[in-house]
Amino acid sequence: MLDRTLVVGPFQCNCRLLACDRTGQAVLVDPGDEPAKILKAIEGTRTPSGALVQVKFLFHTHGHLDHIGATRKIKQSLTAKSAENSPQICLHKGDEDLYLKLSFQGQIFGMTFDEPLPIDRYFEDEEVIDVGDLKFNVLHTPGHSPGSVSLRLHENRSSGIPETVFSGDTLFQGSVGRTDLWGANQDQMFKSIRTRLLSLDEDTRVCPGHGPESTIGIEKRENPFL
Ligand SMILES: [Zn+2]
Repeated sequence: MLDRTLVVGPFQCNCRLLACDRTGQAVLVDPGDEPAKILKAIEGTRTPSGALVQVKFLFHTHGHLDHIGATRKIKQSLTAKSAENSPQICLHKGDEDLYLKLSFQGQIFGMTFDEPLPIDRYFEDEEVIDVGDLKFNVLHTPGHSPGSVSLRLHENRSSGIPETVFSGDTLFQGSVGRTDLWGANQDQMFKSIRTRLLSLDEDTRVCPGHGPESTIGIEKRENPFL
């Protein structure tokens, strides 16, 4: 697997490029800002086995501006190069309202954005999305926002893929998401963390939306908020 993290924008969002080594089929998780930097990491890039990276999906853990800010430009640019390889914009329906209000979110932070493109695919809880050899599982983990999801990537030893969860702004190394923003609910977020994330295997690698990586086991033992 090609696995690259780009830290983008003033909020330092972790944007991840994950590509199947064999096919080059890829996913971008949370293209939050700095589209030129993200596009540079994609274009002409090959996986360790030599497959050309082709982004099939733009996965969004939720609809906050720092996770969706570059989505429009990335989709437009990749579509202009190859219409048949246009990536699908994926988000949980619960955050569609936030997503569509990107300009409004930006106003609060003094940032301007173009109108968001329509969502192509709504994440459903428990659904499986295969991207080459990468098998993702959508976990609806509301609380930080109504439509927050965590994306579980299943281990595949023969392809060098470790069991991983992309936890968005729900679970961080040593911390948890804030719940003072639109539609947030603290009780719901802790319930999501306990029932959907801490129940994963302890060795599961945790890749949050901001800051360093961790594991489920470490967070269970050391996270002071849990
Ligand atoms: Zn957020």
